[in-house]
Amino acid sequence: MSQFADLLPPLSHFINGRFVTGEGAAVADVHPATNEAFCDIRWATDAEIEEAVAAAKAGFEVWRRTRPAERARILYRTAQILRERNDAIARLETLDTGKALQETTVVDVISAIDALEYFAAHAATMNGEHVAFGGMEGDWGYTVREPLGVCVGIAAWNYPMQMAGWKSAPALACGNAMILKPSETTPLSALCLAQAYKEAGLPDGVFNVLQGDGRVGAALIGHPDVAKVSLTGSSATGSKILAAAAPGLKKVTLELGGKSPLVVFDDADIDSAVGGAMLANFYSTGQVCSNGTRVFVHEKIRDRFAEKLIRRTEAMIVGDPFDMATQMGPLVSRPHFDKVAAYYRAAPEQGECLHDGGFPEIQGFENGNWVGPAIYAPKDDDQPIAREEIFGPLLSLFTFRDEDEVLSRANDTIYGLAAGVYTQDLGRAHRMMQRMKAGSCWINTFNVTPVEMPFGGHKQSGLGMENGKWALDAYSQVKSVHVAMGPMQYPY
Ligand code: NAD
Repeated sequence: MSQFADLLPPLSHFINGRFVTGEGAAVADVHPATNEAFCDIRWATDAEIEEAVAAAKAGFEVWRRTRPAERARILYRTAQILRERNDAIARLETLDTGKALQETTVVDVISAIDALEYFAAHAATMNGEHVAFGGMEGDWGYTVREPLGVCVGIAAWNYPMQMAGWKSAPALACGNAMILKPSETTPLSALCLAQAYKEAGLPDGVFNVLQGDGRVGAALIGHPDVAKVSLTGSSATGSKILAAAAPGLKKVTLELGGKSPLVVFDDADIDSAVGGAMLANFYSTGQVCSNGTRVFVHEKIRDRFAEKLIRRTEAMIVGDPFDMATQMGPLVSRPHFDKVAAYYRAAPEQGECLHDGGFPEIQGFENGNWVGPAIYAPKDDDQPIAREEIFGPLLSLFTFRDEDEVLSRANDTIYGLAAGVYTQDLGRAHRMMQRMKAGSCWINTFNVTPVEMPFGGHKQSGLGMENGKWALDAYSQVKSVHVAMGPMQYPY
């Protein structure tokens, strides 16, 4: 793995503007296509957690006093630095996650850059309001939008750079400090963001990176000097984090799991809907939280849809993620492979196999975490492959007859992250959107997440939204100030 040495950022943590090797246990970071270790990362000790929180607390005092226009300039400069390093960071992301380089080059770093530029544009415009309630000359009030303090970001492993950007950009634009804990599976790219912030002139302590598993995350949430936590992860972890934040009544944003529906009506453009269904299941080797893993196709077009879907799926290229022709790399880790493989092995008993993705052997990468794209028609909506989040490239295909039926089946899930509909009927499209119980919805497309739009889940898929101006509410609080212009008549 020595050919990747030049990609590696300084390791392991970034505390108070400096890269720190760390004193904790060293844990190997492995490339998912080979399961070979390419570096060691040290998980944060209690002392390092204390050090990072103290640095963030001090950094916050500097940053909240920094002119918003200057904050914006630093975020813009960071975006520019990342843009210049896009290809190198994309390679690092592919090394760490196994995702195809054809994706990481155009999505992962770019979506973090989009967030930096979008929130930089808002940093200097976050003013309060003047409120006149006393006529022209009486009492009046004003509101102030204040930062929260030290915020903690905890990320999943599927879009590490994107999550680092989506969490830190709005937090910093609002004047907060942040400690980011990447997933223990994909620790590296957050350090590239730290490097870029540093070179852009961010004051020490305003952005920190601590490595480690859930223990480090839990210690950060429980720390009395932490004001807020934003998690991207599974619903099970979301529930633990909500409980951990409860004693201190800390602010919480949760971006969690899903089992989202994608509904294709008989008037849809079939080729486009097939493309949407593939994107909604196979992108990032199926490891996307908002994936439309339950595809409901109207019975009139089901056979034509299935035939095109299978033919195009058969042509997909699974292999070396660094080959730009590859469309699906390996799954992120051996434990995750084991989980997905168990669903693959159980699937034939739960439905009809329309395309068996199987476990491909990739020459030269025999030890990688390989699965192929799979398509099943489950026996019914209650089969585990149809109800549970697999987080791998297994598509469940269903048929339906009418709108009411498909809506009730689409909404019959504990999750509510995303939903999509393909139809040419405008009225029906919007009716479906009104009735879908999901936070992020698409008409005639799927899984596109421009930073201008809020992204988040309903039901057990989350709490609060990331992105768009709504993210500013998640990283700030409003203060209301009443100004008395004359003597007050007290009732005593
Ligand atoms: P995970 O829940 O296992 O871990 C997520 C993060 O939480 C990791 O950094 C982990 O170290 C940390 N963590 C675990 N236990 C913790 C605890 N008790 N206290 C504090 N931190 C803790 O999830 P994962 O396996 O890394 O990622 C896959 C999951 O993430 C899937 O369910 C997927 O749907 C979800 N996801 C959601 C979104 C979204 O935006 N809604 C995006 C990507 C992934």
